[in-house]
Amino acid sequence: MGGVTSINSSPLFDPFGRRIEYLRVSVTDRCDLRCQYCMAAQMTFLPRKDLLSIEELSRLTDAFIDLGVRKVRLTGGEPLVRRGIMDLISRLSAYLGDGSLDELTLTTNGTQLRAHAAALASAGVRRVNVSLDTLNGAAYRALTRGGQITDVLSGIEAAKAAGIRVKINAVALQNTAIHLRGLIEWAHLEGHDVSLIEVMPLGDTGTDRTDQYVPLSAVRDDLEAVWTLVPSAHRTGGPSRYVDVEETGGRLGFITPLTNNFCEGCNRVRLTCTGRLYQCLGQESHTDFRELMRAGIDEAGLRSAIIAAIARKPYAHDFVISEGSAPATTRHMSVTGG
Ligand code: SAM
Ligand code: SF4
Repeated sequence: MGGVTSINSSPLFDPFGRRIEYLRVSVTDRCDLRCQYCMAAQMTFLPRKDLLSIEELSRLTDAFIDLGVRKVRLTGGEPLVRRGIMDLISRLSAYLGDGSLDELTLTTNGTQLRAHAAALASAGVRRVNVSLDTLNGAAYRALTRGGQITDVLSGIEAAKAAGIRVKINAVALQNTAIHLRGLIEWAHLEGHDVSLIEVMPLGDTGTDRTDQYVPLSAVRDDLEAVWTLVPSAHRTGGPSRYVDVEETGGRLGFITPLTNNFCEGCNRVRLTCTGRLYQCLGQESHTDFRELMRAGIDEAGLRSAIIAAIARKPYAHDFVISEGSAPATTRHMSVTGG
């Protein structure tokens, strides 16, 4: 598939010898929620012509897979609000079938999951990350500026019923940190892993990050006051570092971009919904594949451009959240994708 010759050994190594085999693709900047830490209340979304078409997304993912990418995660914005998303998923699904892709997965807010769970399972999606920061319906509505928690909970149920493993991703925030223990207890009871995430200074959301940010070291201390956290060697190819919670029998991950930078083992790059390949979530350097494709680049050129882009991957991000500090990037997380 994809029109380019398959190769066995991946040429996608960055300058630090890290093999890049994980591509995250933001398929839209649009979303049906407006989480306070991700977006401003009034968002101006990109004009549709600026977004890659499903065909362009597919052409690019084909080329990455042909060059050795083994794992693709679709994200956004909200990937399940993108028109034509199931076409892209079924095209990618063929790579699972022929063994050239190990995993196809999504990060979703879960609001549309009930409608899509069965089709995702049939396409070979075995795991999804669902973002849910609190189980308290009122707090959820406030944090997401209007979301209904029942939509997410029924989406999670539908995914579970379809045989898809769910991991709950929760951003730790000053307003909702108090709910995290209850969220973890519920998730573990339901059989879902949980990862906690530190809020990152990405894009201007009209809210002061210092009023949101909680270091996960503090959350961990609070949890350790009541639970026994046993370090675990479990890895999913992402930045989470896990513990097993003895009392709940479940797994808990910590994603700590601020307090404990995890860049050294980074194996991924991110493609935005506009076709920019960011070699690092927290840096501005990128390659514009939309421009190249719309200027008529052929498959060999596309392939060389991908290899050249990976060869420019920076070593690490350098996030800081402090009084008066500017966002690390002007891009919102919804453009680059989480
Ligand atoms: N809409 C989908 C969702 O919410 O899962 C996918 C896109 S969302 C941008 C991906 C992940 O990024 C979510 O887990 C979200 O909580 C997280 N996120 C968004 N903005 C963030 C920020 N500034 N810092 C840390 N995580 C953020
Ligand atoms: Fe939408 Fe996800 Fe951003 Fe929330 S975190 S506004 S659900 S893209």
